[in-house]
Amino acid sequence: MPSESTIQVALPVPLPGCFDYRLSAGSPRPPRGARVQVPFGRRTLVGVVHDHQPSQFAKLKNVQRVLDQEALIDEPLYTLCERAARYYHHPLGEVLGFVLPALLRQGQPALAGGEVRWRLTDRGHHVSDDRLTRAPRQLQALTVLKEHPDGLTPAMLEALSVSKAALQALRDKEWVERVELQPEAAGTPAEVLAEPALAANPEQRAAIHAIVDADGFQPFLLDGVTGSGKTEVYLQAMAPVLAAGKQVLMLVPEIGLTPQTLRRFRQRFAVPVTVLHSGLTDRERLDAWVAARDGRARIIIGTRSAVFTPLAHPGLIIVDETHDASLKQQDGFRYHARDLATWRAQQLAVPVVHGSATPALETLHLARTGRYHWLRLTRRAGDAGAPPIELLDARDTTPDRPLLPTALKAIRDTLARGEQALVFLNRRGFAPVILCRDCGWQDECPRCDSLMTWHRSEQQLRCHHCGHQHRVPQRCGDCGSTNLTDAGAGTEKLEALLEKECEQVKGGAPVVRIDRDTTRRKGSLDAKLAQIQKGEPAVLVGTQMLAKGHHFPRLSLAVITNMDAGFLSADFRGPEQAAQLLLQVAGRSGRQDRPGRVLMQSRHTDHNLVQLAAAGDYQALANTLLEERRGAGWPPFGHLALLRCEAMNMAQALTFLEECAAGLPALDSVHVLGPVPAPMEKRAGRYRAQLLLQSNQRPALHGLLDALMEHARGLPSGRRCRWHLDVDPIDLL
Ligand code: ADP
Ligand code: ZN
Ligand code: ZN
Repeated sequence: MPSESTIQVALPVPLPGCFDYRLSAGSPRPPRGARVQVPFGRRTLVGVVHDHQPSQFAKLKNVQRVLDQEALIDEPLYTLCERAARYYHHPLGEVLGFVLPALLRQGQPALAGGEVRWRLTDRGHHVSDDRLTRAPRQLQALTVLKEHPDGLTPAMLEALSVSKAALQALRDKEWVERVELQPEAAGTPAEVLAEPALAANPEQRAAIHAIVDADGFQPFLLDGVTGSGKTEVYLQAMAPVLAAGKQVLMLVPEIGLTPQTLRRFRQRFAVPVTVLHSGLTDRERLDAWVAARDGRARIIIGTRSAVFTPLAHPGLIIVDETHDASLKQQDGFRYHARDLATWRAQQLAVPVVHGSATPALETLHLARTGRYHWLRLTRRAGDAGAPPIELLDARDTTPDRPLLPTALKAIRDTLARGEQALVFLNRRGFAPVILCRDCGWQDECPRCDSLMTWHRSEQQLRCHHCGHQHRVPQRCGDCGSTNLTDAGAGTEKLEALLEKECEQVKGGAPVVRIDRDTTRRKGSLDAKLAQIQKGEPAVLVGTQMLAKGHHFPRLSLAVITNMDAGFLSADFRGPEQAAQLLLQVAGRSGRQDRPGRVLMQSRHTDHNLVQLAAAGDYQALANTLLEERRGAGWPPFGHLALLRCEAMNMAQALTFLEECAAGLPALDSVHVLGPVPAPMEKRAGRYRAQLLLQSNQRPALHGLLDALMEHARGLPSGRRCRWHLDVDPIDLL
């Protein structure tokens, strides 16, 4: 039977469809999901077997090597990839390539290496801490290892901020050792709990029961204000799953993956916790993947791409901070891990819990219409209520005095009480613009439609969109005047102002700035956080890096500045994202038994959305925004897809998109809007335009997108630009 010797292979190339290859006679037929090595053009590629159909082509190339005898991507995961490829209109071969760890993509065997662990030696167990009082990093390393008698992998140690130098020093003293362990067979300890659970309050109890009692697939929205004990609900819902020998997959946003978060899971359970994040080496990633596939990894915590982790015994999927934009991939394969998590749970017949204090309107809508089971935690777990947000009219602030006297006084009072304050400003640098007092000229990026941000300490102006930088100008670029000034304030300026302010406080207090500029060096963020967590009076200044994942027990004041732009934004998700960020930052102030204070400076204190957000009433705000979305046909009432194009000039970009639109059949059910130049017309030297497709009927929209992609791929004008389709875009910028 000739059909037996032909296979279809999905290859990691930007072309739709699979490719036919012939297997040499007598060679066993690899199943769907197994890897093969094949020639492609002049290259050799590793692809995944898709099917075993006869070929309509007479001349086929031979498979060079069959890499797996069994499916490497099991059927449920394969089906998920297929569904995602169809939904996002992305080539299946690229999706499968994305799902495989790099070493598997390169054709290596899917075996776990011997696992390297650092652990205490016998002598190390008996060392007293005072011998290390002069070496705090070594003491920290020793303490962490004492908490983990089985030892820790390099990745885990790094996640717990243990320094490599400290480990080496301890190894030289023969207090710790590095061992290579062969992976053990999967097993479940008699008792999965390593420490007792907290006594759940009634709302938590109801949520835990609902999740534990779920039979098969059931989607939940765990809607609970910051500090209401969502993590405790996850922990208690996980316990019976783990005790039954099953695995839990949990997705978190990149900046939510902190040592503190991990520690809570590792302390609670006596089963292995595997972490998947972008900082792993290829070998570590493969080991984690294999451990999950073989069922040895029992709790898998990872950022968005972890949604594709193979699971031997799936039991529960959790998406923490489910509203977070980082769950959507913004380049290449533009999937939304939040949505794929629900698909995956459905396919695996397990419950999925989406947790958030500020759920996306899409998720809230699913809960309100009964498609997601809505679990609510309305109170903070301790006794402290959520802090009210006090609105301060900021029309009197100036670039040189960005903080109001009331805010400054509150900061001083907080420090005087021995507590900590946070000042939030989502803009790094010293000032967002340099301008000419005589003619109004502003220093713009030559490659983008954007202003250059002044980074004073580096004596540079930098573009935050493309990274372009140049020296601070001495003269106006238009009229030559030297009468230049800066306007607005960034975190660097706030830091300088607050340092002056703190000098006047008795005893002084450090100002700690946390943004991408101050935390670029590895480990510097952890060092700063450790300083704050010691609990001495301090002022934190920072961007949204501060919004999640970290607990600051001594923080009792949050001052929020400059959130107006989000609430007034023309982008349809602007106000929603501003409210989410605001409530998240406000939630940093006060924990458990200690109510905090939150001040928000705004120039639009009478704006309806600003007032609703300040009242902390996310539900009311969501109602207002959902009504607007309903009227406009935006998600969740309509579905969107955006065809984006970038070219060396605007005419080229628009021409391509016009030709795309012209090739589409006219449908009443799908609106084609544009093409139009993108809100940011130029970025990194390229001109940008977009075509928006909108429909309240998903099948009609996707049918049209199929036609659109096929037509667009054939257009010669497309070869002169870069273009891509973004299904369910999270912004239209
Ligand atoms: P969230 O994830 O909703 O922000 P957490 O689960 O982090 O909330 O809980 C906030 C704090 O309250 C944590 O310090 C946690 O230990 C504590 N906590 C949560 N549930 C309880 C409970 N039932 N009893 C006592 N403390 C609790
Ligand atoms: Zn000028
Ligand atoms: Zn730029």
